[in-house]
Amino acid sequence: MIVINYLHIGIDDTDSPDGMCTTYLASQIVNKFKDNGIELVDYPRLIRLNPFARFKTRGNGGVSLKIVNDDNAARAKEIVLEEVEKLSMFDCDNTNPGVIFYDGEITKEMEGYAFRAIYEFITIDEAEEFGKSVGCEIHKFKKGRGIIGSIAAISLPLTDFTYELLAYRSSDNYGTKRQINYESVYRMDKETFPDTFENIDYSEDYIAIEPKTPCPVLYGIRSNTVGALKKAMDIVEVSEPIVDWCIFKTNQHTDMHIQKAENIASMKQFGCYCVTGEVKNRPTIIDGGHMFFYIFDESGEIECGAYEPTKNFRKIVSHLRQGDIIRVYGGIGEQNTFNIEKFQVIELNDVEYKNPICECGKRMTSAGKNKGFKCKKCGRKIESNEKVPILITRFLKNSWFYETPVSARRHLSKPLCRMNLE
Ligand code: ATP
Repeated sequence: MIVINYLHIGIDDTDSPDGMCTTYLASQIVNKFKDNGIELVDYPRLIRLNPFARFKTRGNGGVSLKIVNDDNAARAKEIVLEEVEKLSMFDCDNTNPGVIFYDGEITKEMEGYAFRAIYEFITIDEAEEFGKSVGCEIHKFKKGRGIIGSIAAISLPLTDFTYELLAYRSSDNYGTKRQINYESVYRMDKETFPDTFENIDYSEDYIAIEPKTPCPVLYGIRSNTVGALKKAMDIVEVSEPIVDWCIFKTNQHTDMHIQKAENIASMKQFGCYCVTGEVKNRPTIIDGGHMFFYIFDESGEIECGAYEPTKNFRKIVSHLRQGDIIRVYGGIGEQNTFNIEKFQVIELNDVEYKNPICECGKRMTSAGKNKGFKCKKCGRKIESNEKVPILITRFLKNSWFYETPVSARRHLSKPLCRMNLE
């Protein structure tokens, strides 16, 4: 039996808010590999890690590549290190690239590390120690923080995955308005959704495939299939050159960041969870447009927030009422508030308690504390203080999911269109 040995390459932390993108760097490496007859095994991978990581530029993504570990491996390593040296934004204090080479099978221990990089915070020292312990070849540039994400990028098992096609601009155009024909993006969405998704936020008229930063990306289209991406690219019209494009296999929109919490008290700050609880109070909106309410269970309670950028989602949240049982998905941020990405209604409280109706047909009023009810119309009195339950019609529906709009969605959040819902 022939055993093929692979070389895994991880790259992270090469970009800054002023430019570059680790995916672009990866695409340049892939081109150089092609020129040197080095072929990738599978697609390059774009792996999103802990959304709360402190030093992220934008979406906390690392990249990994896999090749056969043969006579070309040494040249491949040279190419990777040369391109990282050439293209990284070294002037930025927060850009601290890290490159990892690893030959061999990805072990369970490495997979565990990768999930830890999604769920928790890892220090550079910890990553270095771990990398060495499993036999990674480690290259740190400046502080080398990127090794944290690089080791995770090669190690994460993709049990669920999506693809993203990234089209890159000519460097002359970096920082200028992107020349994308928006009408063609609407057409692309119509013709390819739900195989592609997150293209447009219709409620905000927001073109989500277009980045808002001065990076090399012209647009990024996300999809379940490579075929749909190619179709989508054919439909989207642009009036500036696309110098290159690359398809990445990713953990975007898989909910891989969400851990199933046993109960409310077991959740920790800066973790992402799904948890079930009962709504304690009607959601209220504060200055700045953020909306808050509490949920509780037998272990404790937590404040939940639908923040201003979630726009119309707040209208949906405002329909929650005390006694509703919901399952929330999201993360606990800086203020220790559970930032909702989506929620499912488990059981609506569709009962409201009202004063009884009098025999004459008029609703009665309280006759005073513990003095029963009286009818203002006919003067009748009853001694009982018990209000009567009545069924109310709810806007929300039992077992339905409700999600934040595309414009406010996290890279890792699984949209409802990927959830095989009826
Ligand atoms: P882009 O989305 O444009 O690629 P980014 O948001 O991915 O940018 P990076 O420049 O990659 O930002 O910086 C993120 C940094 O955080 C990297 O150095 C990465 O190694 C590190 N990092 C990733 N996951 C963790 C984690 N769980 N704990 C601590 N640091 C992490």
